[in-house]
Amino acid sequence: MTATILYIEDNADNLLLVRRALEARGYRVVEAVDGVDGLAQVEREHPDVVLLDINLPDVDGYEVVRRLRANPAWRTLPVVAITAKALPGDAERALAAGCDLYMSKPIAVRALWATLERLLSTQPKGQAERFGTD
Ligand code: MN
Repeated sequence: MTATILYIEDNADNLLLVRRALEARGYRVVEAVDGVDGLAQVEREHPDVVLLDINLPDVDGYEVVRRLRANPAWRTLPVVAITAKALPGDAERALAAGCDLYMSKPIAVRALWATLERLLSTQPKGQAERFGTD
């Protein structure tokens, strides 16, 4: 079963970079360009992992993950904060708001692949299932 990755990001260049990088690895990529749409896409698509920009045009990423975590259905959904912000305390703030991990821009493709593989290997649904015994 192909894992679905939702990327909530308002920057078109980053959306394209991540889409290409993840599709090259066989992931299905779903996009949202603001926080409210991102929350709607979680409900619609049931992604296996959410990549979450912090600076969004409506509600910020901290608020997105807070709203997700308020719903028991999404309490354990892996959420990775991805942000250009490099101020001291940002990582801690993202984690405190409910993100599982924090990655800084510019996005390092290999690190992203490795992070997703690790997150999905602990999920019941995901790419790891493809490599069964046969
Ligand atoms: Mn942004």
